[in-house]
Amino acid sequence: MSKPEIIITPDKMCLLASSWRSDRLKIALVPTMGFLHEGHLSLIKKARETANRIIVSIFVNPLQFGPNEDFDSYPRNIERDIFQLSKYGVDAAFIPTIQNFYSPNFSTSVDVNDLTQGLCGTDRPGHFKGVTTVVTKLFNTCSPHVAVFGQKDFQQAMVIKRMTRDLNWNIDIKIAPTVREHDGLAMSSRNANLTTLERSNAPKLYKGLCKGQTEITNGVRSAKKIQQIIYCFIKENLTEQIEYVEVIDKETLERIDTISRPIVIAAAVRLSKTRLIDNIILSPSNLSTS
Ligand code: AMP
Repeated sequence: MSKPEIIITPDKMCLLASSWRSDRLKIALVPTMGFLHEGHLSLIKKARETANRIIVSIFVNPLQFGPNEDFDSYPRNIERDIFQLSKYGVDAAFIPTIQNFYSPNFSTSVDVNDLTQGLCGTDRPGHFKGVTTVVTKLFNTCSPHVAVFGQKDFQQAMVIKRMTRDLNWNIDIKIAPTVREHDGLAMSSRNANLTTLERSNAPKLYKGLCKGQTEITNGVRSAKKIQQIIYCFIKENLTEQIEYVEVIDKETLERIDTISRPIVIAAAVRLSKTRLIDNIILSPSNLSTS
C-alpha cells in the first residue's frame, strides 16, 4: 500500500504528467468529485488495465452545479478518499482548490451543443458546460492517454467522447459499467445524503428500469409503452418527482419510436434533497444488457 502523490496545483500536475510522458509512460485519468465508492474504484481498476500511471482527480466542480443545487451539501471526505486511493495503487491524486483551478477572472468555457439538450440537460441547464469545461482543464493539466468514465452518467460519458473527438484530443475515452449496491441501487456519492426511508426505497428506480427491460425482452417494441410502464412504476412506488424517463438511441441520445437498435433506458428522480439517475443499455437484437 503506497500513498499517491498528492498534487494541489495545476502547474505541478502538468510537470509530473509531462515527465511521465517523456519517460514514455502511459497515463490514465479518472476524474471524480470524491467521496469515493466502489463505482469509482472500478474505474481505477479499468484504468490499470491499460496504463502504467494513474491519476485520480478529486474536485467538486462549482461550474457544474446550478444555483439551487447541492454544491454545499455534496458529500466530501478527502482523508478517507486518499486512504482508498493508496489501496488501489494510484500514482497521483490531483486535488486542486477552486482558487488555484479557476483564476478570479476565469471566463472561458467549452460547450458541446449536441447531446446536451435533453435528459439531464433539461433540468440542469449549464451542467454539461460546467462538466466539459472542467474536463478540458483536467485533460490539459494531466495529459492522459486514456480517461475512464462511468456508464452511470451515460450522457456525460457520451458528451465527453464527442468533445474529445471534436477537439482532436488523442485520448481514449473508456466507459465502465455501473457498480450497484446489493439491492440494485447504483452507487453514488449522493446516496450518503438520502434519509433512511429514502435509501430503502431508492432501489425502485433501478427496479422500474428493469421492468422496462423485461417488457422489451418479452417483445414490446414501442418506446412510448416502455416509457409509460417505467414512469407509472416509479410514480407509484418511489416518487412523483420524476425529472425524466426516456428511451433513447444509444449513439445519438435521441428519442425513438420503435425499439430496433441499441438503446438506453434512462431516468432521473428527486427524493427530497437528493437527485438520483440511472440507466440500462440494451441491444434488442441479442437482448443482452451492460
Ligand atoms: P462523480 O464523482 O460522481 O462525479 O463520478 C466520477 C466518475 O465515476 C464518473 O465518471 C461517474 O460516471 C463514475 N461513477 C459514479 N458512480 C458510479 C457507479 N456506481 N459505477 C460506475 N461508475 C460510477
